[in-house]
Amino acid sequence: MTEPTNPPGNDPATTRADRGETSVGSVFVSNYPAYSFWGEEDLPAARQVLARAPRPGARLGLYLHIPFCRKRCKFCYFRVYTDKNADQIETYLDALAREVEHYAHLPAIADRPLHFVYFGGGTPSYISTRHLRALVDRLKTALPWDNAAEIAFECEPGTLTKPKLEAIRAIGVTRLSLGVENLDDDILRHNGRAHVSSEIYQVVPWIHELGFDQVNMDLIAGMVGETWDSWRQTVQRTIDLGPDSITVYQMELPYNTVYSKDLLSGDGEPIALADWKTKRAWHAYAFEQFAAAGYSRSSAYTMQKTADARFVYRDAVWTGQDMIGAGVASFSHIGGVHYQNAPRWEDYLGALDSDQLPLFRAFAATREEQLTREVVLQLKLGTIDAAYFRAKYDLDIIEHFQAPLIGLRAEGLLAFTADAIALTDEGLLRVDQLLPDFYDAKYRNARYT
Ligand code: SF4
Repeated sequence: MTEPTNPPGNDPATTRADRGETSVGSVFVSNYPAYSFWGEEDLPAARQVLARAPRPGARLGLYLHIPFCRKRCKFCYFRVYTDKNADQIETYLDALAREVEHYAHLPAIADRPLHFVYFGGGTPSYISTRHLRALVDRLKTALPWDNAAEIAFECEPGTLTKPKLEAIRAIGVTRLSLGVENLDDDILRHNGRAHVSSEIYQVVPWIHELGFDQVNMDLIAGMVGETWDSWRQTVQRTIDLGPDSITVYQMELPYNTVYSKDLLSGDGEPIALADWKTKRAWHAYAFEQFAAAGYSRSSAYTMQKTADARFVYRDAVWTGQDMIGAGVASFSHIGGVHYQNAPRWEDYLGALDSDQLPLFRAFAATREEQLTREVVLQLKLGTIDAAYFRAKYDLDIIEHFQAPLIGLRAEGLLAFTADAIALTDEGLLRVDQLLPDFYDAKYRNARYT
């Protein structure tokens, strides 16, 4: 069987230290600097920024963490619970609503329209229709979202029924994201997914029928048990399902996954993990097939059918806009200060019971750190425009980041002019690996969380 991309001898890995095997500790870069640099000492800065009026014109979004899942996937690294009953879920959703109501009275938030709302998790579609409606009624009263540009909602196929999808549509969801991950039942089962492929085939016609503005499907390249044959089938079957966009993540192994713990302890069955070169080849193959089916690239991970379709939540996060992250362990960003909520169930609920925001740790970013964060995250789009940074930071990013740019260009991972930086196809396939080249030295080679 031949690989469609990265033929031996033509791989930039020969000029750059490669990650080689998939080993425990790899990360998907979602913020800068790493969360391990956030601490209690910056919590006063978070409280201060929340007590001040916002910058004029600054946009605000709302992320809601629904941390419940039917089962814990063996590769999952999110804060999720699989053992909560209906009463506990109701208690959590009440706390979540109270948190948002608390924010609605703060000077930094009061009376600001929401630009987007993102229901993430966990599995937002796990909660019942009754719970969803009750939650949304309270949230919309606290922070209206009727004029928001996007309401996004993550779903696990096996948790959906037609009435639940109708309720999701009725609360105003514009972007529905379906966690398909793979369409091979053996692979889904092996990796601990709760759903099976027949559940995907059952719900997709309902989703299309309900006319969501955008339907995204997520896939993971490199699930345990994947082969070239199974991956080709998953790619083709996903195209056949007709989503508006398809997102492919290469399987990571942060420390807190079931697989990572098994590997480190030596417990559990031996697992065969695809190496990074193979995962990149699978990722590249998928993108070639999506392109042939009429999709165009929207970021390192996503291809979409309509070239100018927007993913408001992603673009807001990657351009440093204000966002309340409500829910256990959620991450917020207001006016240059990042902070995270209490990551433990009891602490999160306890703070809200005492009418306090459940703040846990924070990071007050300097102007330089805000700039680097934006450059790093926007590089995931594939191209970035120097004029945007000149206007926002009064600084020439090409000159400022000359050393990493020259180094990465020599390795064939990007090209740049005086006006823009563009990652090559190979650079996009390994974007999370090259981003640390842009970091301040003190933030490199650090623990991530
Ligand atoms: S469905 Fe998503 S959030 Fe839930 S356990 Fe699986 S990967 Fe984690």
